[in-house]
Amino acid sequence: MSITISALIKQSPLARREAEMIVERISGISRATVIAHPERVLDAAQHQQALAMIERRAGGEPMAYILGSREFYGLDFIVTPAVLIPRPETELLVEQALARFSSLPTPQGARMLDLGTGSGAIAISVARHCPSANITAADISGAALDVARQNANALDANIRFIESDWFASLAGESFDLVVSNPPYVAAGDKHLAEGDLRFEPIDALTDGAPGENGLACIRRIIADAPQHLNNGGWLLFEHGYDQAPACAELLSARGFADLCCFHDLAGIPRISGGCWHAH
Ligand code: GLN
Repeated sequence: MSITISALIKQSPLARREAEMIVERISGISRATVIAHPERVLDAAQHQQALAMIERRAGGEPMAYILGSREFYGLDFIVTPAVLIPRPETELLVEQALARFSSLPTPQGARMLDLGTGSGAIAISVARHCPSANITAADISGAALDVARQNANALDANIRFIESDWFASLAGESFDLVVSNPPYVAAGDKHLAEGDLRFEPIDALTDGAPGENGLACIRRIIADAPQHLNNGGWLLFEHGYDQAPACAELLSARGFADLCCFHDLAGIPRISGGCWHAH
């Protein structure tokens, strides 16, 4: 049965904006037209498709997985349940990575590594703004790398992808900048059982290590990064809302200098890092 856009939106249990996004996706009608012409008619097939998506959303599935994409740093990324959904606060990591690149004495050909790249959002955003950079993106998940490769192709970003458990497959390689948005939610944190997080890959969210306060991966990255950083190179990573002091301690104990910490738009300390000077 066909239906008008306004009737569909009215009947849907979803927030209006979410129902509109579903209509946009299944019909190809622009956001402006969906809003300006709610009398437009969806055909029976489109109606069925919309109802199926509305039902998934009503069951709690994240909009990004239902629509198959999410905007990040002004680019449209393919996302599937194989990857974490890119978050706005992670854009801060991209900004800081770009700032480091522009302060390097020779930014051309500078080498960056993105650890745990997931959808590729960080690596690809940096590559698009810094095309002369030499970027490697690693992930332990082959399924995530497939998504990241599709994104790099679609967004025309030149990136080398590698399957690796953190630095394990990168022996002997060094970089001017290592960035990461690692899993940092503490094992057993109640948020893992709420909202979008229930549907995201658990290994991208938490180290699953009881008693580590979510810091196991960050600890490992900080421990191994110096072997893979050029003299004067930087490590920058995202962490949880209460992890900044622990991160600063780990960085300083490992011998990092010029420790930095940046706050996200919600005022939460979100990105920390430091500079490595070879001894
Ligand atoms: N920021 C994510 C959250 O909403 C966690 C992402 C991560 O673990 N890297 O909890």
